[in-house]
Amino acid sequence: MAITLGDILFGRVRIVRTRPRRRRALPDTPEVKALRVEAKAYLPGRLAELAEMFGFEYNAVRIKHNRSNWGSCSIKGNINLNLNLMCLPEELRDYVMLHELCHLRYLNHGPEFHALLEKVCPEHRSLQKRLKEYKLI
Ligand SMILES: [Zn+2]
Repeated sequence: MAITLGDILFGRVRIVRTRPRRRRALPDTPEVKALRVEAKAYLPGRLAELAEMFGFEYNAVRIKHNRSNWGSCSIKGNINLNLNLMCLPEELRDYVMLHELCHLRYLNHGPEFHALLEKVCPEHRSLQKRLKEYKLI
């Protein structure tokens, strides 16, 4: 049966979104615990330094553990950083943080985003390539 726009507008059908399957929490191994301690001690301060250096303002920073991204940025100006960043060389860590800071202005990967990233981190292309050699644990 085909659903028409009219069906939707007049409530003849309802669009329901199934709840996304809840991801199981990653195991808090001693290694992860140690990384979290290091990450909390280091990342918020470094993010503040980089933000200050390039004139970015964010709302809050949280340390996360997931296998889907190194960092993320929300529309509310919150930045999440993966504790796995502590396993990266310093320049890659900084690159991820600068990338997320640029998302405070552009929440996409469009040309304006890339122009801004280019300004604050001219080597971003090679850094992004190197980042792919690392795995999230
Ligand atoms: Zn991005």
